[in-house]
Amino acid sequence: MSVAEFLSSNHKTAFSIEVLPPVRGKSIEQVFKTIDRLMPFNPAYINITTHRTEVVYRDMGDGMFQRFTEHTRPGTVAIAAALKGRYGIPTVPHMICSGFSAAELENELIDLEYLGITDLLVLRGDRARGDNRFIPAEGGHSHAVELCQQVQEFNNGRMLNGKEHEPLGGRFTFGVAGYPEKHEEAMNMESDIAHLKAKVEAGAKYIVTQMFFDNSRYFAFVERCREAGINVPIIPGIKPLTSLTQQTLLPKTFHIDLPEELAKEFCRCRSNDDVKALGVEWGIAQARELKAANVASIHFYSMNAAASIEAIAKAVY
Ligand code: FAD
Repeated sequence: MSVAEFLSSNHKTAFSIEVLPPVRGKSIEQVFKTIDRLMPFNPAYINITTHRTEVVYRDMGDGMFQRFTEHTRPGTVAIAAALKGRYGIPTVPHMICSGFSAAELENELIDLEYLGITDLLVLRGDRARGDNRFIPAEGGHSHAVELCQQVQEFNNGRMLNGKEHEPLGGRFTFGVAGYPEKHEEAMNMESDIAHLKAKVEAGAKYIVTQMFFDNSRYFAFVERCREAGINVPIIPGIKPLTSLTQQTLLPKTFHIDLPEELAKEFCRCRSNDDVKALGVEWGIAQARELKAANVASIHFYSMNAAASIEAIAKAVY
């Protein structure tokens, strides 16, 4: 059963997680440790993020800096295969337009097909660090909807060179991203939801949300999506607070608000341990309410938060 089919089927609220590939040069053991810790809660599937290439400057020691382009977190496809083999549960690599040409993305589809990995999350991806707007790679896509269309074309046997490929063992099925507090670039919520609907019409079978800390924003978003005729499962993504720096980092990076009650408590925290305790308490309350609303899965963003997610899952599942 694909992840999309699982999410649309009748079941109790599932537990799912997202992991990041290690920083270039670091071992995969860290990813295994995170998952080992969370395996007792039977994750229904594991997402693996993808990161675009970035320009980095290396100090050459003679007063000169050399400019390189580097994948700082490579290995998404390989990690998806490694986790699937090691844990025997479905893995969902993220496919992003950012930094990739359509031809490179097609190569990735071919790799994934050979590996028998046919669940995807299709995204545009973040803009390059230092750019003030999203610039597609040469021969790449400007919006996630175009990549959804490319995957569908591939599913229908057509490749970019116009040739047909042999029927696949399994067709790719995919989810896309949604934003309960609006994507930062969208003119307004209405246009953002119209673009989200276009992704569903281009084949997305479910939506995973950006993290949020105020469940009422999620419930209102689901209602607006339903009014707009979007009927696929909308999976809430949540992340426990873990550090003092998130007071400014989360709103700046993810364009989300912290509700007043949480913000007040956050201001009282004096150490990262205080924040972690608050994050667990808030996460339990959030997850309990989402579970009571019978969402198909609660998707946990695990970066630097495995211990907190473990504590939340213990209390909620
Ligand atoms: P899109 O759907 O293309 O939307 C981007 C913006 O363009 C929105 O404002 C939308 O309203 C607008 N828009 C969409 N279509 C059109 C159109 N046809 N014409 C005009 N405007 C349009 N980033 C990564 O780099 N790697 C990851 O692994 C990753 N994983 C993520 C997982 C989740 C669950 C979420 C919520 C986000 C993730 N991101 C990831 C971040 C995401 O890539 C960024 O938020 C990105 O800026 C937008 O991606 P998108 O797929 O929503 O883009």
